[in-house]
Amino acid sequence: MARTRRVAKILRSKPTIEGAGVHLRRVFGFYEVPLCDPFLMLDDFGSQDPRDYILGFPWHPHRGIETVTYSLEGEVDHEDSLGNKGRIGPGDIQWMTAGSGIIHQEMPQSYLGTLRGLQLWVNLPASHKMMDPRYRDVRRADVPVVSPAPGVTVRVVCGSIGGTRGPVGGLVVEPEYFDVQLEPGGVFVHPAKPGHRVLAYAMDGEAAFAPGAKAPLRRGQLALYGDGDEVRVTAGPAGVRFLFLAGQPLNEPVAWYGPIVMNTEAELDLAFREYRAGTFVKHGRT
Ligand code: MN
Repeated sequence: MARTRRVAKILRSKPTIEGAGVHLRRVFGFYEVPLCDPFLMLDDFGSQDPRDYILGFPWHPHRGIETVTYSLEGEVDHEDSLGNKGRIGPGDIQWMTAGSGIIHQEMPQSYLGTLRGLQLWVNLPASHKMMDPRYRDVRRADVPVVSPAPGVTVRVVCGSIGGTRGPVGGLVVEPEYFDVQLEPGGVFVHPAKPGHRVLAYAMDGEAAFAPGAKAPLRRGQLALYGDGDEVRVTAGPAGVRFLFLAGQPLNEPVAWYGPIVMNTEAELDLAFREYRAGTFVKHGRT
């Protein structure tokens, strides 16, 4: 019989300011290491007021991680040291592996309405921190949508559901990244590998994220699951939309400063010395 995972801890997003002055909500980050391992950070950004995001995230480096940007509403322009340049719109995803180093900028565009997006940071193991950078731009139309049960709609970005595999593959920590929508009363059941970290972030609406949960989880809250081999989420009366994340914990030391995450302080020092010396980018157009 399946051991259904319980919610071990609930995290609530908190307002913070990032980049050149973007007001966003941080779901988890530096202070939650190693709770969410292999995931490092999740930001929920956007607003009705362009002044909250228009200054964006001008040119900055990354090393040792992957950044995953998911546009829900509105558009984000980007450009990087590999020579990529483009715009991601609603439902599009940019899965960027910084590896040995990338310099990029991410600029939300003024939008009439409520712009909204998510950015997740996925850690890389010591063996892959200095891998060649790579970049995947996934369009909304290329993300398969499956309905494993009545009232359940899943956009499969990474990982698979019932034989449908998401377009982002070949990743180091075997992550699953699903955008799940449940109609009122809809139930999402998904197997989870024992020992893997599983997180669910409520984007809208509310749900019981485990059987017998004391209170529903609401927008802006994250469920951190205990161990087990399946997850079961039951939507509340208004339905729910949530981000489902799973991955194998790295259990490695984390040395983190700003946009660079390595294993040791010496690697961190080297990265910043290289950045100042102009030798940070090892790969691509500079
Ligand atoms: Mn960035």
